[in-house]
Amino acid sequence: MADPKFAYANWANTFSCTAERCFEPETEAEVVDIVRSARTHRKEVKVFGAGHSPSDLPCSSGYMLNLDKLCHVLQVNIARCTVTVEAGIRLFQLHPVLRKYGLAISVLGAISDQSVAGAIATATHGTGVTFGNMSTMVTKLRLVDGTGAIVECSADNKPRIFDAARCHIGALGIITQVTLQCEPAFRLESVQHPIPFDTMIRDLPQLIQSAEHTKFIWFPYHNNVVISKLNRTTKPISRPPEPWALTQQKDRFIYELELYASRFLPSLLPGIEQRLWSRGFNKTIRTVDWSENIFNFDCMFPQYTTEWAIPQECASQAIQALDKALSQARYPIHFPIEIRFVKQDNVWLSPSYNQDVCYIGIVVYKPFKSEVTYHALWHDFEKVMRSFRGRPHWAKFHTMAYEDLVKRYPKLPDFLKVREELDPDGIFVNDYIRRHLFPGNIPTLPEQPNVANQLASRPLKSKL
Ligand SMILES: Cc1cc2nc3c(=O)[nH]c(=O)nc-3n(C[C@H](O)[C@H](O)[C@H](O)COP(=O)(O)OP(=O)(O)OC[C@H]3O[C@@H](n4cnc5c(N)ncnc54)[C@H](O)[C@@H]3O)c2cc1C
Repeated sequence: MADPKFAYANWANTFSCTAERCFEPETEAEVVDIVRSARTHRKEVKVFGAGHSPSDLPCSSGYMLNLDKLCHVLQVNIARCTVTVEAGIRLFQLHPVLRKYGLAISVLGAISDQSVAGAIATATHGTGVTFGNMSTMVTKLRLVDGTGAIVECSADNKPRIFDAARCHIGALGIITQVTLQCEPAFRLESVQHPIPFDTMIRDLPQLIQSAEHTKFIWFPYHNNVVISKLNRTTKPISRPPEPWALTQQKDRFIYELELYASRFLPSLLPGIEQRLWSRGFNKTIRTVDWSENIFNFDCMFPQYTTEWAIPQECASQAIQALDKALSQARYPIHFPIEIRFVKQDNVWLSPSYNQDVCYIGIVVYKPFKSEVTYHALWHDFEKVMRSFRGRPHWAKFHTMAYEDLVKRYPKLPDFLKVREELDPDGIFVNDYIRRHLFPGNIPTLPEQPNVANQLASRPLKSKL
């Protein structure tokens, strides 16, 4: 059941660790045994789900667990539109089961590779001003705490633990079961079309209300913007007749080759961006399909990524400030910047706790698994996001310390109290949790490997 010395690396191979052992429990009773053994032997314990967090969030040198074998659907309540699952199930495994029962998850992020426990751990989100993140969909949850006890919670049963555990960042225990609120299965019509950057800035409050799920894709070298609007529909499935963007293997390869070349010739990047734009983002595209096929998209290559949530009312100002920062410096930006919107909630550590938010995310690719530089960009991006009272995405690397976070998360002290109650010996505390959630630490960006100089000049903005 346990591998001696286990090498863990996340999906993008950007963070790794060597654990003393890795376990793959098949039952909750086995999880309890592992936790008890870890406690007895004073070992740190961390679970990884799909390993999709672009940080060291699940890393440990002690015991690691993976719950891929705890992946069963336990109960579907069609009348209430709820589903109870073992927490290791991946979202892509859940979708077909839900569809069979005429149900679906109301909103998803870019991918469905995540485990359910992993997705809620970091408040994984999609977009839509009237839709919360995935943590808000949890109606009941079951975990094995640091003493090996099984704890069940919901809004009516142990509400403090429930409010902490819905966005648990892996710090409270091992989540074994989750009940999710779903809705009747639905198709979405996606309409994507270019708009001028200035229109996005000027009309942002109206634009984000103009569809059930709205997002912007901003091509920063040329300030081109695409708005993507998704609405529920009864129309039949229809896909654009000609493949667009990078659906063809050949186009993907060429794109990746171009990005690889930009490591040595960063001045290629504005041209690469412009070619990507003209591969289909510069025109209107309509698609109708089942919800998960529209919400999800191909994230292509391994990547470094950072994302912050800022108060929604600051969105236009923050994008302008970021535009200015990007214009003043020279960074390699490999892919458009994604701007999404999430409704406020009451989950203690949710980045949308008590405030409607706008998420801004930046991706730097690792073409052909090669290293790329991203520190300067991350640093300046974080500076802008902090100046707008930003809260970082828990899964993605940031340098917020307890002293910063407590100002943004009024319930952080309560979360830490619940944490101590559930995990008195601190077996679920790894470097990430210590660095960011415990007072007196100064987090820094991880070591940057030696890479070719990659500063890229940004040309003057071009018109659409
Ligand atoms: C290509 C890509 C696209 C993405 N798109 C989005 C997006 O659109 N929106 C968004 O918000 N995020 C997005 N993410 C981030 C992703 O949703 C989160 O990192 C999510 O937490 C990953 O889930 P996972 O199952 O891989 O968990 P992991 O990354 O393996 O773990 C995340 C945390 O959960 C803990 N954990 C996992 N399982 C358990 C358990 N059973 N019990 C206790 N703790 C547990 C781990 O210890 C860790 O602390 C994306 C990531 C990638 C790589």
